[in-house]
Amino acid sequence: MVIQTFRTVQDMRTQVTAWKATGLRVGLVPTMGNLHAGHIALVKAALAQTDRVITTIFINPTQFGANEDLDSYPHTEAADSEQVADAGGHAMFIPSSAEMYPAGFSTRVIVDGLTDCLCGAARPGHMDGVSQVVTKLLNQAHADVAFFGEKDWQQLTVIKRLARDLDIETEICGVPTVRDAYGLALSSRNGYLNAEEVDIARKLNVILKKAAYDIAAGGFAIDECMKAAKALMKAGFSGVDYVECRDADTLELLDRSEGRSCRIFAAVHVGPARLIDNHLVN
Ligand code: AMP
Repeated sequence: MVIQTFRTVQDMRTQVTAWKATGLRVGLVPTMGNLHAGHIALVKAALAQTDRVITTIFINPTQFGANEDLDSYPHTEAADSEQVADAGGHAMFIPSSAEMYPAGFSTRVIVDGLTDCLCGAARPGHMDGVSQVVTKLLNQAHADVAFFGEKDWQQLTVIKRLARDLDIETEICGVPTVRDAYGLALSSRNGYLNAEEVDIARKLNVILKKAAYDIAAGGFAIDECMKAAKALMKAGFSGVDYVECRDADTLELLDRSEGRSCRIFAAVHVGPARLIDNHLVN
């Protein structure tokens, strides 16, 4: 199926303006492409809440560190567009780097506090790049609602905060993490793994779930549970960037869970991939 593709901000805006003029609600699904069922869940959530859905593909260079996988990040535009069309999406927005960052571009978006920890600390500059590109996409599209995955919980939290702080009218909606049959959160970076590494990767959610259970039901101290989780991760993964229990809204580090909505966050390395996941402490 062929889907309408916009490559310039102006063309996309003209279409959004026309849709809105007829009373249609517009949904936006920002991605970096190489789409899987997790991304398609965002498209479906958008279709359930809005009348017209634009999926964006932009591999944003400003959110990659110097030694990260920007150059090898998969470009699968044709297959991505087909998946979105099959899911019922209405249009793609696939801008070039020059369209997003024209010569002389010099504006940054920094969300203080929320970006100092977790992936913000482990990948310096990453959250600032995300904030920058998402602010631009939200301003470009003027959608009614934009959809982001809970897999990237810190990112979702930062985006909600910047949208509020900068008076962006688009509502920010989180969508639950889509997992494989073994609980592994779907990720474009899972494609870097061989079969043996996939087996290791599948342990991540099991360890997080156990830690969440021990804190919530077992009444164990958070720091003991985090130490135990880290030890299990170190035994299986080639690196552990962090495993921490934090307030779900403020991302404050917690040593007691009482009365707080909290989540356990982890980032680990397996083979050539860095994987992240998070789990609610219920
Ligand atoms: P990415 O292309 O990795 O930048 O992801 C684009 C969007 O898809 C982000 O909002 C992610 O949080 C979301 N996403 C990625 N993987 C999943 C997943 N397994 N379940 C739900 N959402 C996801």
